[in-house]
Amino acid sequence: MPSRELCVYCRRREAVDEYRPFCSERCKMADLGRWLSGDYRVPGQPAAGPEGPDDQDDAPDSTGRGH
Ligand SMILES: [Zn+2]
Repeated sequence: MPSRELCVYCRRREAVDEYRPFCSERCKMADLGRWLSGDYRVPGQPAAGPEGPDDQDDAPDSTGRGH
């Protein structure tokens, strides 16, 4: 079991104290934006479709990055 919590948004990077429970301000704002827009999804679901201009900039959940 990991001793550190993962970012609740991208779930790939460790959360940092400054932005906890997120890994960065980017994830924090992205997650907040989803809540405010009423478009929040269950973590793990791939974000498909044009939902925001920043969505495709650095998709942390993109597959094929396992190794
Ligand atoms: Zn993150």
